[in-house]
This record gives sequence, structure tokens and C-alpha cells, in this order.
Amino acid sequence: MATEFEAVIGLEVHVQMSTKSKLFCGCSTKFGAEPNANTCPICLALPGVLPKINRTAVDFAIRTAIATNCRVNLKSRFARKNYFYPDLPKAYQISQYEQPLAEHGHIDVEVPVEGGEPVRKRVRLTRIHMEEDAGKSLHENAEGGNASLIDLNRAGVPLMEVVSEPDIRSPAEASEYMRTLREIVRYLGVSDGNMQEGSLRCDANVSIRPKGSDKYGTRVEIKNINSFKFVERAIIYEIRRQEALVLDGGKVVQETRLFDSDQGVTRSMRSKEEAHDYRYFPEPDLLPLEVSEEWIEKCRGELPELPIARRERFRKDYGHSFEEASTLTADRQLADYFEAVAKKSGDARAATNWIKNELLRELNVQGKSIEESPVSVDAMGELLGLLAKGTISGKIAKDVFAEMYQTGKKPEEIVKSKGLVQIADEGSIRPVCEEVVKANPGQAEQYRSGKTALLGFFVGQVMKKTQGKANPQLVNQILQE
Ligand code: ADP
Ligand code: MG
Ligand code: ZN
Repeated sequence: MATEFEAVIGLEVHVQMSTKSKLFCGCSTKFGAEPNANTCPICLALPGVLPKINRTAVDFAIRTAIATNCRVNLKSRFARKNYFYPDLPKAYQISQYEQPLAEHGHIDVEVPVEGGEPVRKRVRLTRIHMEEDAGKSLHENAEGGNASLIDLNRAGVPLMEVVSEPDIRSPAEASEYMRTLREIVRYLGVSDGNMQEGSLRCDANVSIRPKGSDKYGTRVEIKNINSFKFVERAIIYEIRRQEALVLDGGKVVQETRLFDSDQGVTRSMRSKEEAHDYRYFPEPDLLPLEVSEEWIEKCRGELPELPIARRERFRKDYGHSFEEASTLTADRQLADYFEAVAKKSGDARAATNWIKNELLRELNVQGKSIEESPVSVDAMGELLGLLAKGTISGKIAKDVFAEMYQTGKKPEEIVKSKGLVQIADEGSIRPVCEEVVKANPGQAEQYRSGKTALLGFFVGQVMKKTQGKANPQLVNQILQE
């Protein structure tokens, strides 16, 4: 019988914190500045400078630790991780090693299942520690062609490294884990989670073992993956590669590999023998980091409702499907927007459909977030109110919505100025219906002799004559008479 394998995966995710200044100096962290504009003697590592910890970064890391069920250590320590690379001016990175800020947490991940309820999976966290980012080497389009340029704007930007236990069992679980972590840090407001700008990067550790075995196999570490799609593809490739290797009588060797997203393959970067010896030692320029119980409790008290809890509540309170709740809670501001519209309009179902199908579609087309929506909560609620009261029909509401989106005008204003109020009194509709039946004697005869599908034709005629303003239920009823 062919051996069946099981994948074992652990992720190390680097999350860039959205503090205004860097981890150990006052330089700006703003993305996209002129190369080396955001630097100072400290992050340039000029002689004689000393680092000073950014309190907000510690605060953000504590919040993340609590939200991921970690134990926050009252005392932690920074360490020097020594390696030589041109974009690391000090020739060491200040990180945390033996005493990290937080340990022993977990993240619950909801893995979607095609056509069914999602499967909830708990992934334990080994630790969360803080460290500074390195700069960037630019090898392409360098001035004069034959040179590499260094941009140190990113050097010293605060990161959290979130290390999972090897609890993940499939590529889909891995990308969902990463997505969940991104949602959490965005809910907390501690990171923008912007993947394009590298705010979330992951190293994926992958091994395989015969199904049923309780021993771990030799792992390979795939470095620096910066999208959910690539995480999944890199791991899929790596599992296949390892399986083929083992089935062929070979052995997986512990090494670091890189994912080539163009070719869809991983390639060896360095083997264990060439692995770095970082010669970690405690950072002598910084005191041990002490956080008080009060600080931790303050952060705990200010924790928002987290995505998974909110998703569950939306399903219960608003009758959402998993997919609806997932869409509407993917972003804290969007979830707030939805709840405000549902409340204002008094119609959660309509709010769900309109936000999900109309508003999000428009925003997505333009790559806008909910905060940039030209349609305010008040305007959206008002529109759904007009619809619920029957002042306007569903079809007109779509036109009004399109105009609201374009112009930012209030729905009442649009409805009034364009005379779009729904005609819902029988006295006005009946004559139009009679007129339409008279004008089409052939169809009327066919309808009477049983071709009832023709009702739609008559309804269409009446709607045309009333510019879509007649109440469709009423039109149907009168025509049938
Ligand atoms: P390093 O810091 O050298 O990368 P760690 O021991 O800290 O090594 O492990 C890093 C990551 O590797 C963790 O996320 C862990 O879950 C994962 N990991 C450890 N052993 C295995 C294994 N056999 N297969 C897959 N992942 C593993
Ligand atoms: Mg590692
Ligand atoms: Zn600086």
C-alpha cells in the first residue's frame, strides 16, 4: 500500500506595527518616503548612539499578546542577533530571544469548507516577541547600472514576530491562519496588515510524516512569503517535493528555501551546515523590559470584540450565513458600518444585502475601503428606510443608490428632485393597467386562454409607462383582476 503522508506546518509571521515612530528612535515609519529620508544617527548606527524603547510599540505588542491568549511576561529582554548584511548597519538586529514578551497563546482559525460549515482549528502560539526591521537593498535600476543601493527607511521599524507551534496541517489552514492573524491585528489597530507594503511577512516551516505517526519529520523553512496566495502555493509545492523525494528513497534535509512565485517552486537558499550562528547575547544598551500588571489589565480592558466572536454574534443576531458574517466582519470599520445601518434602517436583512452586494461591489471596483465610502451610514440607512416604507421601489432604489454613490447626495433629495416616489395608490395605477390591456388585445386574449406567463409582459408595459415608479405588487394584483 502506498504511504499516505501528513503535512506538519509552523508559521513565523512578522507583523509591522503601525506606530508613528521607529522602535528605538524618533524617526518616522511612513511608507514611501524618499530613500533614507526617515533616518537618524540611531537607526544609521553611528558610533556612540543609544537605543530607547518606543512605549507604543510595547503597548501594541501587549494588546496582540492578550488578543491571542498569550501569557505576557512581566519581565522580558532584548538580545542582539548578530549577522552581517549591507542593509543592517549595526551588523546586529535588536530582537528578543531567551525572554520574549509573550508566550503560550493560541489563535482559533475558521477554515472554510466548500458548501458546509467551517471547521474550527486551534493553532497554539509559542511566542510573540518584538524586534526591529532591517533596511532594504535595491539591486535593480541602480544608478549607473552596476551598483546596489541601500535604503534604510525601514531599518528600526517595529515588528512583532508571532511564532506558531507546528499545529497547522494543510496549506489552506496556513493561509487561513495568516488571514485570521491579519484580521486580529487590524481589529486591534496595531498594524495596517498591508501585504503589498510588506506589513505582514511569513516564514513557513514545512515537514511531512507518515499519516498516524506522532514524530515530526525534518523541516524546511521557506522564507519571506508576502501573500496568502503565495503561502498556500509555496506549501503545496513543498509538500509535493518532499513526498516525491521520500517516495524516491531520499531524505529531506533541513534547509532554508525561497519561493519563486513566477515559477511556483521553492529553491534551496542555504543548508543547515551553512546556517547562521547568530551568537545571540543580551542587549547591553537596553534595560530588561518590565511591564506592570496594571498596564496589561488596562490593555485587556480596552480589547475590542474580536473578529471570531463578532462573526458568531452576527450569525446569531442577524441570521447571517457564515459567508455573510465573514464578509461583514473582515474589517472592524465595515462591521461597525453594517451594524449602524442595520440599526438606523431597522432592517438587518436589507442592510446585509445592500452593503454586501451594492456598496462593497462599488468600493471594490475602486479599491476603496469602507472609510472612504461616499455613502454615509445615515444616507444608507435612509435609503433602506425609503425602500421599507414603499416610498421607492427596489429598482428605483438601485438607481438612487448609484446616484448617491456618484454624488454623495442624500436619498430623499434625489428622490424628490427626480420625482421618483413610488406610485402606490390604486387610483393612479388602475387606469394605466386598463390602458395597457386595451392596447394589447391579442396578448390579453392569449392570457385569458391560459398563457399566464404573459402577465410579466403586461407588468413590464405598466412599469415602462410609469418610469418604473409603480408598486409592482399592486400592478400584478390589478392586472390579474
Ligand atoms: P528557528 O527559530 O530556527 O526558525 P524554531 O525552533 O523557533 O526555529 O521553530 C520555528 C518554527 O518552526 C515554529 O513555527 C515551529 O512551529 C516550526 N517547526 C518546528 N519543527 C517543525 C517541524 N518538524 N515541521 C514543521 N514545522 C516545524
Ligand atoms: Mg525561523
Ligand atoms: Zn532613526
